[in-house]
Parts: sequence; structure tokens; C-alpha cells
Amino acid sequence: MKKDNTIRIGVIGVGHLGNFHVKRLREISGISISGIYDNNPIRTDEISNQYDVKSFSSLEKLLEISDAVSIVTPTPYHFEIANLALDKDCHLFIEKPITDNIEHAGLLLNKAEKLNKIIQVGHIERFNPAFTVLKNLHIQPLFIEAHRLAEFNPRGNDVPVILDLMIHDLDIILSLVGSEIKDIRANGVKVVSSSIDIANARIEFENGCIANVTASRISQKIMRKMRLFQNEEYITIDFQNGVLEEYKICANPPESKVTEKVVELGGPEKRYVLYRKPQVPKQDALKEELTHFTNSITNAQKPETDGESAAKALALALEIQKIIGN
Ligand code: NAD
Repeated sequence: MKKDNTIRIGVIGVGHLGNFHVKRLREISGISISGIYDNNPIRTDEISNQYDVKSFSSLEKLLEISDAVSIVTPTPYHFEIANLALDKDCHLFIEKPITDNIEHAGLLLNKAEKLNKIIQVGHIERFNPAFTVLKNLHIQPLFIEAHRLAEFNPRGNDVPVILDLMIHDLDIILSLVGSEIKDIRANGVKVVSSSIDIANARIEFENGCIANVTASRISQKIMRKMRLFQNEEYITIDFQNGVLEEYKICANPPESKVTEKVVELGGPEKRYVLYRKPQVPKQDALKEELTHFTNSITNAQKPETDGESAAKALALALEIQKIIGN
């Protein structure tokens, strides 16, 4: 670290998402961007000029002067770069998925632990403002329905849709359910690319919770929704539009101040369905996520979306892929 404790962060891979990493890191106080590296020199120059950050033609040189790096290359390169960055004593922010195989994820986790380095993985939906509201509710889901649908885009097709899109919901679900997996059923097909483009998985947990998860990258419409059903409560979260809605059954009508709508249920004992649409804070998920990373380094704390939880999401995604086949 610099004498004034400023954390020097390098960005590796400045394509579509790496561009936003540079943009948001510039807005975070207590850090400086040590430089950027991309194996496409034209892109490196473009981003270097746009944000006035130093460009490097050698990855090693950038790592040597950095305390931490953001790895935003295509997934197949995550391991090789992360491994080298650990050798050069850097903390790691790795875009999701952590790697494309579980052995590599395990090697990174072990090495980082030995070297006392932080690994945070870009499971950005955990920083989605609507999800931050959900975390404050009492969540014990019995049934979860998730839909993550995207229009076709040639980027990201180097991995099946399960590793590209579904893994966001798998990570969220694992963080909410907190139980071992009992059974998985899954289906999926290739439609446009050479790997699975649309997939569905039904995950049964030991505690009885069922998650039915669908991901597609060949949809006409974009959708990122999750519906959670639990005892006397239904919560719907729209990650795309940052909206959370809650329907709850209660014995007594609540004070109108806290509830937008009350529906009386029939029957001998009066019960009520309360509807709430809590205020969701306006915040940029990527900035929140990168701020969490820098704070984790400063406070020597495990990040919420650490390497271990990312490896669990990866293991589940790979298991789903194995069941589907190809
Ligand atoms: P992209 O293709 O737009 O950009 C990747 C960049 O990395 C390119 O500029 C490329 O030249 C560069 N690159 C490739 N190999 C390299 C190497 N070996 N060394 C240095 N640079 C290299 O891809 P993208 O959409 O920005 O995705 C990058 C990563 O971010 C992927 O892992 C993807 O899964 C992840 N991603 C995450 C989210 C999210 O929601 N968290 C969204 C999109 C992408």
C-alpha cells in the first residue's frame, strides 16, 4: 500500500464490463487505479485515454505495483490471471463465475488463504438495491421461482448459460436457503451457440425448500425476477427494475402508515393480506460491490461474496451442467 494507505487497484480486461469497473473505481475514495491491462492494446489505449489511467503492456508490471486487482477478462482466463496476481501479492476481485472449473477455484481459495489475501467474486445481484431490502426481511423460503432471461448477445457465449446467467440466481438462492442440496433435476438445450442457451433446474434442499430456476440468453424480453414463498408470505423481487413487493397474511389489520393495501380474507376468523412495496435505495450495484471489496481489504474482513461462496455457486452450476449433459 502507498504510504497514505491508499489501495492501488489494477483492472485487467477492460472490455464491456471492465470499462465500468474503471469508471466506478474512479469514484471510490481511499483507492487509486494503478493501471489497466488488456491483451487487446487498442482497447487498453482507448480506456486509458477515456479515463486518464495508466496503461500497461505487461501484466506482470501492473501486478508488481498493485495492492489489488479487478479481473474482468472472459471466464476461461480468470484462473491463470488470478493465480499470477496472488504470486504478486495482490488481493483479488474476480468477475463471476470465479473460474470455469472447481479444481481451479479450490487452488485459488487455498493459495489466497495461505497468503492472507482476499478474494471477492462479482456476484453483483447481492448488491442490487432491491436485494439489500430483501436481506432485512425474515427470509425462510419454502419455494423459489427464478427467471433470468436475456436477449441474445455474442459476449458471454464462451460458457453455457448456466455459468453466464443462472449462476447469479444460484448464488442468491444458496445465500438465502442455508441448507444442503438433496436432489437436482435439470434440462437445457443449445439453440444458437455451441453451448447450452436455455436451461431449467429444480433444486430440492434438505430442509424441504424447492427452487425452480430458469435462465435463457435467447429471449425476446429481458427479465430478472425471483419469487419467494414462505409461511404466510410471498415476496417478489425484480432485479432488473430494482423493485421488491411483499404480501403477508396477518391476524390483525396493520396501521395504514406501514401498509399500502390490505385485503380481507373470508372465513370465520378474519385474516388479512397486507401488501407492501418498500422504498428501494437508489444506488449503483457495481459501485457498492467494489466499495465492499476495498472496505474488506482495509478492514481485513471476509467479503460477503467471498471466494468460498462463489465456489459453492460454481459447484452447483457445474452439477446442473453435468446433469443436462454436453
Ligand atoms: P468482454 O469480451 O467485453 O471483455 C473482456 C476483455 O478482456 C476484452 O477487452 C479482451 O480483450 C480482454 N481479454 C481477453 N483475454 C485476456 C487476457 N488473457 N488478458 C487480458 N485481457 C484479456 O467481456 P465482458 O462482458 O466484459 O465479461 C468479462 C467478465 O465479466 C466475464 O467473466 C463475465 O462472466 C463477467 N461478467 C459479469 C457480469 C455481471 O453481471 N457480474 C456481467 C457481464 C460480464
